[in-house]
Amino acid sequence: MVATPIGNLSDLSPRARAILAEVDLIAAEDTRHSSGLLQHFGIHAQLLALHEHNEAQQSVQLISQLKAGKRIALISDAGTPAISDPGSRLVALAHLHEIPVIVIPGPSALTAAVSVAGLSALPVHFYGFLPPKAKARRQVLEGLSHTSGTLVFYEAPHRIEEMVGDLVSLFPSERTLVLCRELTKRFESVHRCSLAEVQAWLAGDTDRVRGEFVVILEGAPDRERIDPLIEGRRVLEILSASSLSISEAARAAAKITGANRSDLYNWALQNLESGEDSIGSNSED
Ligand code: SAM
Repeated sequence: MVATPIGNLSDLSPRARAILAEVDLIAAEDTRHSSGLLQHFGIHAQLLALHEHNEAQQSVQLISQLKAGKRIALISDAGTPAISDPGSRLVALAHLHEIPVIVIPGPSALTAAVSVAGLSALPVHFYGFLPPKAKARRQVLEGLSHTSGTLVFYEAPHRIEEMVGDLVSLFPSERTLVLCRELTKRFESVHRCSLAEVQAWLAGDTDRVRGEFVVILEGAPDRERIDPLIEGRRVLEILSASSLSISEAARAAAKITGANRSDLYNWALQNLESGEDSIGSNSED
């Protein structure tokens, strides 16, 4: 299993280069794509395609070649094979046949982004790509809304705005989000902000939605470390959409979270939009 660069060709390790030059065969996700990389390094190897649609059948064929003594490297289009990329079925089959599998570790968008995000509370949950369909994506995200630690997603440029929109609508606005774009490439950027700010930032420049993304979201706060005022505001925000008046909602949120009722009430007056009868007809008694 040989990791290849996620953008910057200089990130191919000397060991990866040596192994790719000496194996009998390189199984590659996209042979045309990988031949560019190999040419750049002057490697002339036999290539065979192994992608998600033919992995099951190719794996059987590769196992027989491995058993015959051939040394085979597996690479993907970018980064580490089998991380949101094909490869794990072949590896599982190799283990089953007691064929040694070794890894030449190196670039991965996952580790690169976690490393640069400054958000690495454990556990780090790597989700990979969310479902492309809105309903399924939202269902997955709802299921993750109370997950603590750090959430890591891969996302394509044509879906980034929609995906971020879902994060904004389903997670508390104070959560930190880190958008890691085009890492190791010419236009790489790492933007860290709160969910409350992210859509305005994305809308600020069309270049900000271009390229490949790793999206890292701060997980739910540790129960013991929850600030009652922050939690109170979150609950109050939810309750403000109900028929409760601001005063009633502040009282309920204070009871639920232990935050100070007056602090919540005053915050709601300044920050929450509410119907006339809510604020107008209720005073903080
Ligand atoms: N196996 C790869 C790895 O180890 O990172 C990931 C392959 S997955 C099919 C491709 C996704 O990884 C992209 O859609 C993007 O979410 C992320 N990605 C790959 N290269 C990236 C880069 N240079 N910057 C940011 N994200 C990247």
